[in-house]
Amino acid sequence: MIRQQEDATWTPHGLRSEGIGGDTRPDNADPVPSAVGDAATAPPSGRLSRWLDAARAWPANSAQAIVGLLYPPVCAACGASTGQAHGLCGRCWSGLSLIERPYCERLGTPFALDLGGTLISPAAMADPPVFQRARAVCGYDETARALVHRLKYGDRIELALTMGRMMALSGRELLADADLIVPVPLHRFRLWRRRFNQAAALAEVVAESQGLAVDLTVLARVRRTRPQVGLSRNERAENLQGALRVAANARYRIEGRRVLLIDDVLTTGSTANASARALLRGGASAVDLLTFTRVIPGS
Ligand SMILES: [Zn+2]
Repeated sequence: MIRQQEDATWTPHGLRSEGIGGDTRPDNADPVPSAVGDAATAPPSGRLSRWLDAARAWPANSAQAIVGLLYPPVCAACGASTGQAHGLCGRCWSGLSLIERPYCERLGTPFALDLGGTLISPAAMADPPVFQRARAVCGYDETARALVHRLKYGDRIELALTMGRMMALSGRELLADADLIVPVPLHRFRLWRRRFNQAAALAEVVAESQGLAVDLTVLARVRRTRPQVGLSRNERAENLQGALRVAANARYRIEGRRVLLIDDVLTTGSTANASARALLRGGASAVDLLTFTRVIPGS
């Protein structure tokens, strides 16, 4: 079921409340997480983590004041002025199609009717995904698209905080079972060009919210692929064949562990399935998927 929100403002701390608390960032350092390389031994940690750490170290009021200067209180999606930084304005918030139960317990796709009990959609039965369960905050509508675009192209880095926290709420059941958080990787060439893996940024925020470990490098794109946009389902699967891998010397990091895979958008599921397959081959016991938004078939 998709719920259109009542007029309220989303903040990274939940629905509109007084102030933004102490969890703000005084540092405008480029929080690009590193997803390059094959660091098989050191626990990976991106710059975003350090940025979050720095934020926590600041007294709430001074941090709030500085963040106010760095990020004027405008809506994270449309740029309209709002009461506080890195939230959504009432209009954008009400425009988000939040996904709530009842939904398919495997695919996370909403059902129009609540028939009670644990439900699996016909689509999930006919073509079971490689991952165990998928959840997303909202349907891929205009507002969600705007947020993802802004995050991806890096002009609103603090969006990772807003979106990641929404994901942590929508994915709380998956997080409760997860041993490790892993973002869908970019190929290092694309990462170099774009300088920013949005999935890694979201993964860091989601992991941080639950005190879980995030591993930015265990899953790697070992081959460059064509952009998936415009490809058919079969072409997408073919395009990704062998493109994602867990290096033999990194297997111990996921062996027997339940992995929560993170991405910004779920479209056909090709990338998510290829990633989940690589993680399972790498020894993970199971893989769940949490995205900010997802295309809802038939909508
Ligand atoms: Zn807005």
